[in-house]
Amino acid sequence: MSNTANAKILQPIAGRKNLSRLHWAIRHCLKCPLHKSRIHAVPGQGPVNVDIMFIGEAPGKNEDLMGLPFVGRSGIFFNNLLLSTGIDRSQTYITSAVKCRPPANRNPSNDELRICKENWLDKQISLVDPKLIVLLGKIPLKQIFNRTDNLNNLHGRTLNQNGRTCFLTFHPAAAMRFPKIRKKMIQDFKRLTQDNFF
Ligand code: SF4
Repeated sequence: MSNTANAKILQPIAGRKNLSRLHWAIRHCLKCPLHKSRIHAVPGQGPVNVDIMFIGEAPGKNEDLMGLPFVGRSGIFFNNLLLSTGIDRSQTYITSAVKCRPPANRNPSNDELRICKENWLDKQISLVDPKLIVLLGKIPLKQIFNRTDNLNNLHGRTLNQNGRTCFLTFHPAAAMRFPKIRKKMIQDFKRLTQDNFF
């Protein structure tokens, strides 16, 4: 086997190992105050070199209990959205802006967002190397682009960050609560598979 062929086989294996190490480090992270109230940190789920990486806001109660992203009611809603648009969840990488549940589900502070991004999210993006990043809700928008725009004006659009394309849409929990947002989010997800993003 040629060196190039060998490298092609070994690269994803090395990427998976590095991602597993990163997940381990996140589970043990004490870098911001959110570690004090968590049961489990929720690093993320999925393989490397995917077409789509989803970034949500923060773990909720069920995610905190299980240590996995999008496993509660909004997870079921999110799974159904993926199914309806033909996106295979197992072929995506899913994480959140902060990896530990904020007390009483409050919004993460600017410092918490910055610390978690600088220590973990930036590394995850680099290792997973997705073709498209989908930001779910206003928290990852604030964390990555330092923007606090109303998502009603921005959803369905893309922004670029360090050469990576980020698609903006709502958080599944908001779509579950508000039928108008749900309708817009379903349209956004249809665009994901129709607009040749990957
Ligand atoms: S939220 Fe992020 S930075 Fe803060 S303790 Fe959890 S993993 Fe560490």
